Amino acid sequence: MDLTSYAELAVLLINSPDRLAGTEELPALLREGGRYRPGCRVTQGDLEALRVLRKELVAVFEAADRGDEEGVVDRLNALLIRHPVQPQISGHDGERWHMHLTEHGRTADQYAVGAVMGLATLVTDLGVNRLGLCRAAPCRRAYLDTSSNRSRRYCSERCASRANVAAYRARRKGGGQ
Ligand SMILES: [Zn+2]
Ligand SMILES: [Zn+2]
Repeated sequence: MDLTSYAELAVLLINSPDRLAGTEELPALLREGGRYRPGCRVTQGDLEALRVLRKELVAVFEAADRGDEEGVVDRLNALLIRHPVQPQISGHDGERWHMHLTEHGRTADQYAVGAVMGLATLVTDLGVNRLGLCRAAPCRRAYLDTSSNRSRRYCSERCASRANVAAYRARRKGGGQ
């Protein structure tokens, strides 16, 4: 697992406010993020910590959306201090040796460490402008732009085609047809 792939945890959390209604929904969120281990405990404290983390991650993506690179970096640096990484080298299931970032702490801490370190790695490897919020109003879901030409504007194919249809209609109206 390369470190930038951990950034998907941030996107998943931002785009899943419905999963933060109560602790029952949390295991599904963790499973989707590949963070669920059998027997892992999910408490009210985890839920509250993940709600706070979600707000902080939204603020990171909003700063990126405004083109405020220093705002993104300041926020990520503050999060890196609050969620220190204790990496471990791991080799399991026939994979070669690779890094695991999220071996320690309670469930929410493990999630936070992965999400924050993933974003920090993505931003330093590829650039702040790789963090995006969907332009198909009113969507505003988060996405990571890993396209080679940095062309991504929407969270999904569905939002892209919805925006294309809206733009086409607007053009037709403008053309007086
Ligand atoms: Zn592994
Ligand atoms: Zn969207």
